[in-house]
Amino acid sequence: MSVVDQIILLHDVDNKLFEINKLLGGLPGQVEELTTQEENLKNSLVEKEELLKKTTVDIETSENIIATSQEKINTLKDKLTDGSISTNKEYDAMMETIDYEKNLVSEKETELLTLMETKDTLSKEIEEDKSNLDTLIQDLASKKETLESKLSEVSDEKNSLEEERSNIIKNIDDSILAQYQTIYEARNGVAVAEILDDSCGECGSFIPAQLVNEALAKQVVFCGNCGRFVYQSNSEN
Ligand SMILES: [Zn+2]
Repeated sequence: MSVVDQIILLHDVDNKLFEINKLLGGLPGQVEELTTQEENLKNSLVEKEELLKKTTVDIETSENIIATSQEKINTLKDKLTDGSISTNKEYDAMMETIDYEKNLVSEKETELLTLMETKDTLSKEIEEDKSNLDTLIQDLASKKETLESKLSEVSDEKNSLEEERSNIIKNIDDSILAQYQTIYEARNGVAVAEILDDSCGECGSFIPAQLVNEALAKQVVFCGNCGRFVYQSNSEN
């Protein structure tokens, strides 16, 4: 087989490999993205659960303070009526303490309302997060499964193409192969063009008769404009 035919064959194999790699390319990224989302959701869930614990403790503390103050107020009110107060000074001091405790209760009751709202919101969010996490884990599992089945589906084909490729390149001169690689990358995977009506089939540039003849004789010929390997089908002969 001529070098030109080897290059055409190599080109075909490379394009098939490119398609396979493209097919496999998207899924690992998607799986990675889902894994990151899963991590983030798990971390946020842990934070929310910590906050919920703290809020529950704060609620208890507030409730205790309110109960204690309420008790103090009641005791003081009893003293006001049981005749244990004898001077105006004592009376004023007692009223002041009662006011102080009343303010404290009112302040703590407001705090308590906010804390209870926070607890409510957190509990709902945690529930939602847990359900989202379940969905995400299921989604991740199914994507991984799809990836693995696609992988096994094409891995045989990929292996045989890679084997074919390594067999082909054994027959191609290193410098020509290097040139092919450069053109392949520079021309986005279209490194070979057929000569059609004495023109390059890819860029449309005129190919001189001398080069067309060389191509017909299966010599390695490049397009003077785009640099691609050009070949002439035998059928036009
Ligand atoms: Zn060209």
